[in-house]
Amino acid sequence: MNYELLNSGKRQEACGVCGGYAEDQPLAFLTCFSLYALQHRGQESAGIAAGPGEGRKLWLKKGMGLVSDVFPDSADLKGIVCKMAIGHVRYSYGQEGRNPENTQPLKLRYRYGELAVVHNGHLLNSTGLREELECQGAIFQTDTDSELLAHMVARQGSSCLEESLAEVVPRLKGAFAFIVSDGHKVIGIRDGYGFRPLSLASLDGGGYFLASETCAFDTIGASFIRDLEPGEMVVIDEGGLRSRPIIDFPCSKLCVFEFIYFARPDSNLQGKNVHLVRRELGRQLAREHLVAADIVSGVPDSSIAAASGFAEEAGLPYEMGMVKNRYIGRTFIKPTQKMREEGVDIKLNAVKKIVEGKKVVLIDDSIVRGTTSVKLIKIMRRAGASEVHLRISSPPVTGSCYYGIDIPDAHELIAYNRSADEIPALIKADSIGYLSMDKTVEAVGLPADKLCRACFTGRYPVLPG
Ligand code: SF4
Repeated sequence: MNYELLNSGKRQEACGVCGGYAEDQPLAFLTCFSLYALQHRGQESAGIAAGPGEGRKLWLKKGMGLVSDVFPDSADLKGIVCKMAIGHVRYSYGQEGRNPENTQPLKLRYRYGELAVVHNGHLLNSTGLREELECQGAIFQTDTDSELLAHMVARQGSSCLEESLAEVVPRLKGAFAFIVSDGHKVIGIRDGYGFRPLSLASLDGGGYFLASETCAFDTIGASFIRDLEPGEMVVIDEGGLRSRPIIDFPCSKLCVFEFIYFARPDSNLQGKNVHLVRRELGRQLAREHLVAADIVSGVPDSSIAAASGFAEEAGLPYEMGMVKNRYIGRTFIKPTQKMREEGVDIKLNAVKKIVEGKKVVLIDDSIVRGTTSVKLIKIMRRAGASEVHLRISSPPVTGSCYYGIDIPDAHELIAYNRSADEIPALIKADSIGYLSMDKTVEAVGLPADKLCRACFTGRYPVLPG
């Protein structure tokens, strides 16, 4: 993906969270494996909290880097005696991303014991809430929304975590999926619009598990039950599973970018398989923007499914015209623009024997700033492609995201205030074609009003309060 992100100055994260409660299960170990499955959602840091351990304290290990860097001996985690565990992989950018203090889970001690929190998303009213708490004497050690929630819970004054969360979470405005634990129960919460995904599964042998994506359940042999509803709080403890709505007037607005780019192809969101949706996006794209060409290629990895759908529909051969070096992190996690740009060159290369002398349809899932597209076209031309027609399996991105996805401010977007006709000259492509919004929604297969599409349409869901 061309997710050349950004220096928007906004604090944003798109992370992976997971965690569960069970008797007699190696929960820390299972959580670690789930984090491996969620690694695509963040590579900046990883961590696990488990408990209650000795002295009823929570065990915590976290650090910068990939899951395998932080937990090189994951088998050792089988030895951790616990009834709960929660985990986190973090995506972030800029200085903040390199700050080890912002790694999660966040563990805090308050008057009723210990609290561990992980989250995915972005709070729009965090500045105001932080100032309010600081005026009351709160001292923050991190920049995370997890710490904000922990402080609010601690000040609630109730020994019942569940009740405290039900009181304070409605005050949070934004996109979030939290998993919180005091060592005795694990609580999952989704914001009132359900921007960020969070699903529930049962564990073989008893207990329940939550994760940002269903691919994590497959990895640990858990059985998917359902996605959490927007505004829902699910509590898992020795009494089993219970649930209740805690946010008034919930309304589903799942981020459509989860289907286009973020989620893993083997995950299902709202019952829709991500790979199949991407293939259908490609098919629809071929119907809207067919072009005379010799081969179709996709930008690996997230555009391969759309490229195969395009080729199928167009009756053109799908070829692996571009390969990716898998040992270099995703372009969009590099914290500076320079690093991001260098990353593309190191990471992608064309297969000369495939593209030489050919008219190529190159499929990418989206264009943000356009700098990566310039490089992709250059790579194909350098390998001898006679024509390069860029086809994008989503509409033009014309606005930023205020709900936790790292998209630059509008004026940095290549499609901002420009028609599609102006773009080929800028990126040196022979032509470009974006999938229309209507066909994007049709390919996803969910009602348009159940999806957030604001960075494409400019119609941002208004948050209450
Ligand atoms: Fe997703 Fe765009 Fe909505 Fe942000 S604005 S939540 S990236 S669809």
